[in-house]
Amino acid sequence: MEKSVSTNVSLKPYNSFGVEANAHYFFEAKTMDDLLWIVHDDHFKLPKLILGGGSNVLLTKDFEGLVLKISFKEKWIEKSNEDHTLVSVMGGEVWHTFVQWTIQNGLGGLENLSLIPGNVGTTPVQNIGAYGVEIKDTFHHLEALNVETGEFEIFRKEECDFGYRHSIFKTKGKGKYIITRVFFQLTNRNHQLNTSYGAINKELETIGKEASIQSISEAVINIRSSKLPNPAVIGNGGSFFKNPVVANSQFLALKEEFPEMVGYPSGSEQTKLAAGWMIEKAGWKNYRKGDAGVYEKQALVLVNHGNATGKEVLDLSIAIRKSVNETFGVILEPEINIL
Ligand SMILES: Cc1cc2nc3c(=O)[nH]c(=O)nc-3n(C[C@H](O)[C@H](O)[C@H](O)COP(=O)(O)OP(=O)(O)OC[C@H]3O[C@@H](n4cnc5c(N)ncnc54)[C@H](O)[C@@H]3O)c2cc1C
Repeated sequence: MEKSVSTNVSLKPYNSFGVEANAHYFFEAKTMDDLLWIVHDDHFKLPKLILGGGSNVLLTKDFEGLVLKISFKEKWIEKSNEDHTLVSVMGGEVWHTFVQWTIQNGLGGLENLSLIPGNVGTTPVQNIGAYGVEIKDTFHHLEALNVETGEFEIFRKEECDFGYRHSIFKTKGKGKYIITRVFFQLTNRNHQLNTSYGAINKELETIGKEASIQSISEAVINIRSSKLPNPAVIGNGGSFFKNPVVANSQFLALKEEFPEMVGYPSGSEQTKLAAGWMIEKAGWKNYRKGDAGVYEKQALVLVNHGNATGKEVLDLSIAIRKSVNETFGVILEPEINIL
């Protein structure tokens, strides 16, 4: 079929906040062939927005350049020994579908990351994490297209600068690479089951199962479904802010003033504060102005009740940041990419 770039396309179906914004130019790469075609098309010279599942972006205005949606899919086993299997997965695979596939194949390591929305190719961008696990724990290497040179490059784990919701693709590599393929090293046996989050053990008890890669995935799906809004029902982008990391001394001072303040050790000298707790304490939980609001069950999640604009959600986030800073002297940084 003849390939062509579409003009003036609504991005509402392509972002999990469900906000309206138009792309002046839009192209969906469903195969690697499509990607190689668009790289040589004149539209590729325009400013670009690479879009995966659209579950970590807030669109506050129309996009004047080319929106390139990554949809190429395929996954396979590269090689296996008695203990480990190296899997290779294309950037446009849906993350949760891939996680379920690894579990069906008896491969361990990704079960705690079940049900996180978005594409596989985006997971290294912010080193996605949940329930005590991050993708850096099983990440092996990735392949990315350098949009400036048109060459494919390999990034090994140590070259990605992974940190809490952080990688090189948020700093030096931002806008420079399209991640096309990711390799994970998973376990075939002696799985390192992580049930360090109390909620997982509690859920395993409720469903009456011993810890295994299958049961942990089931428990995580149950917990997430009960706590987080489903973007298909209510627009959202998951956690809007990162949990701020402060010096232990600042945490102790805050704890004097707010004895019930929640914090977790982050290395030996810093503490990670629970942003959701601070937002709730500052009085924002279940707040609503027009159709932009704060989720009733988790104050870290901002929602679109229907027809909110990206700008209205952004304004709400700015008001929350200001109020948390006034109350606690702590600055919240967005986890969401604001465009
Ligand atoms: C309900 C809900 C729950 C969530 N829970 C979690 C959670 O538990 N943990 C967590 O870490 N995150 C969570 N998220 C955030 C989100 O799921 C992740 O950040 C996910 O990896 C985003 O993937 P995406 O494909 O939708 O990214 P998009 O929103 O499409 O893109 C995000 C950013 O990555 C860039 N990008 C996209 N694809 C590529 C590519 N192939 N190469 C280079 N750059 C690219 C985009 O330009 C953009 O800057 C949640 C989101 C929602 C809506």
